[in-house]
Amino acid sequence: MKLLDGKKCAESLVADIARKVAGYEESGLRKPHMTVILVGEHAPSESYVKSKIRSCESAGFEGTLLRFPDTIKEAELLEKIREINADQTTDGLIVQLPLPRHINQQHIINAIDPEKDIDGFHPTNFGRMTLGQKAFRPATAYGICKLLQFYEIPVWGKHCVVIGRSNIVGKPISIMLSNDFDIGNATVTLTHIETPRELLLDETRRADIVIVAVGIPGFVTEDMVKEGVVVIDVGINRLEDGKIVGDVDFENVKKKCSWITPVPGGVGRMTVAALMINTLMAYQNNFDLV
Ligand code: NAP
Repeated sequence: MKLLDGKKCAESLVADIARKVAGYEESGLRKPHMTVILVGEHAPSESYVKSKIRSCESAGFEGTLLRFPDTIKEAELLEKIREINADQTTDGLIVQLPLPRHINQQHIINAIDPEKDIDGFHPTNFGRMTLGQKAFRPATAYGICKLLQFYEIPVWGKHCVVIGRSNIVGKPISIMLSNDFDIGNATVTLTHIETPRELLLDETRRADIVIVAVGIPGFVTEDMVKEGVVVIDVGINRLEDGKIVGDVDFENVKKKCSWITPVPGGVGRMTVAALMINTLMAYQNNFDLV
């Protein structure tokens, strides 16, 4: 069994980005700039946002965190987004999810300028990605592709099972891996909560690659996978003792894997790296650098 080390891969990608940014600065351009909006006080969101801002420093970007209380009205938040959309000095904008219940998440996502939508959640980017066109790709799914590419894991022609169909992880990764992309051309089965257990087991037991994003600790067990499988664990679950675990029973499943992601240090790090790649792309688009 070998580890798909998200930390190592992310550091390498961010170092490449930092080299490019240094070159752009030498030629007199400003730094790429990511703005993150955080609403309310949600401990996991605090830690995700911190790691995004930290990563901006490593990449040579400017990172701005805008905090709003959870009492902010949807209309006020929309107004703030419009301001940032119009601000020429911000290349990429993230609104950290989840939002308080009184704010409609889809209204907020739809309000972000697709040219600044580095999370890749706006329908324009999601649609373009689905059609195989140039787009900001949803960051976690894109990060998984980059990790598979870094470790030269064959995807082309493989059978991949995705467990979980959220718009931010399961759905986009199933589309990306089945599209005619460099890291794609797999035959993908997307499963969800209505997938009968027997069918799920049939699928996972013959899968070459299993990707799980359900948010249930230990959901994927040793009996669900075949020898030599590649397992990508997207889950981030905080146990009562504060420990962070994924959706895979790591200690037992790893015995059967050719490759597996750890949690932490796997997909989470790659999500942030993919956001950096998307921000650089937004910046390059702004300055006609590509
Ligand atoms: P989500 O929106 O809650 O979606 C979970 C998905 O799992 C849903 O599609 C749900 O099906 C499906 N599901 C739930 N129970 C199932 C079961 N018993 N069998 C099969 N499918 C089942 O979650 P998410 O946002 O995708 O996140 C999933 C996990 O990944 C969470 O732990 C989250 O913290 C983590 N995450 C990590 C990263 C990262 O960077 N590493 C990024 C995003 C999320 P239905 O659609 O039918 O309800």
